[in-house]
Amino acid sequence: MRILCTNDDGYLATGLSVLARAARELGDVRVVAPDREQSASSHSLTMRLPLRAQRVDDGVYRVDGTPTDCVALAVGELLDWRPDFVLSGVNHGANMGEDVLYSGTVAGAMEATILGIPAVAISYIGSESDRIAGFLPVLTRLISRIVSRDDFPAETLLNVNLPDIPPEEVRGVRVTALARRVYTDSITRATDPRGRPYYWIGGGGVEWSGAEGTDFHAVDNGYVSVTPLHLDLTNHALLSDVEEWGLDG
Ligand code: MN
Repeated sequence: MRILCTNDDGYLATGLSVLARAARELGDVRVVAPDREQSASSHSLTMRLPLRAQRVDDGVYRVDGTPTDCVALAVGELLDWRPDFVLSGVNHGANMGEDVLYSGTVAGAMEATILGIPAVAISYIGSESDRIAGFLPVLTRLISRIVSRDDFPAETLLNVNLPDIPPEEVRGVRVTALARRVYTDSITRATDPRGRPYYWIGGGGVEWSGAEGTDFHAVDNGYVSVTPLHLDLTNHALLSDVEEWGLDG
């Protein structure tokens, strides 16, 4: 089993080192990750600047780009083999609901899916990244079950969220749908030292609305959440309705 690990918190992040440790119990591992934090970089691809990859350790590279750049470079250029699986994370912070559209962690896995390689994005919803290491046994067990499937679906990735509880209290694994996220006051306006206004996105509070069966509900009740995501954003149920709008008339 050949496994590529990446993330969006940067190559020095605790979550990535825990993920790589779990992966090394299952096979041959390479790490190709951003040289700095790239959270919320979404599926950004660097096309108008050169990219540099630096080997920092045996089988470990840092790239001055996004998680998408890392996976594209790893598979297309840097690695001496094609991965059987790509694992992205463990992100420092949740990636539930609409988060998956902004997340660099999910995008790293998504890029692998586009390249035809099965992939899993993993996030820890707590704020204390030091606690991620305790999830090593939970993570190793879950990942080994996933990578041993020989029927992993095409065009689909798995989005995993680990609950913010002590790992020994985890109640199990739930397969879920995405919840909905509600951010309040997420843009802060302030004044810079020269008297000009500036804005900061990402402050404010986060609230979730998620019924039973959603990712938020699962982690909120002490379960590991596993959401299958597919890349086709088409609203298939609406195709015939929009057809009737007569847009070509
Ligand atoms: Mn992140």
